Amino acid sequence: MKREDKQKTAQALIRLYCRAKHQKQPLCGSCAELLRYVTARLNECRLPEESSTCFMCPDYCYRSDVRESIREVMRFSAPRSLIHHPILMIKHLRHLRKLHRHL
Ligand SMILES: [Zn+2]
Repeated sequence: MKREDKQKTAQALIRLYCRAKHQKQPLCGSCAELLRYVTARLNECRLPEESSTCFMCPDYCYRSDVRESIREVMRFSAPRSLIHHPILMIKHLRHLRKLHRHL
């Protein structure tokens, strides 16, 4: 998956989450901050661009408070995004399941 795709996915998921949880559009302050952080991490990530992981790998390089927030966003938004981005989301959910097995 390309970096821009990951970025787009992250943005879509955070927007969905914020709209449902905080009733803000496009994003409230803390969600905008979260997206900025995720985007920065994606840009700095040294994993190969083709690896489907990265922003779905909060354990890997995220700050611990951000890690919790992004996990919550994922848990909420990922299943709901299946309708709009099925292939993208199936990949991500598979990865998320793997991630949760270690928790
Ligand atoms: Zn929000």
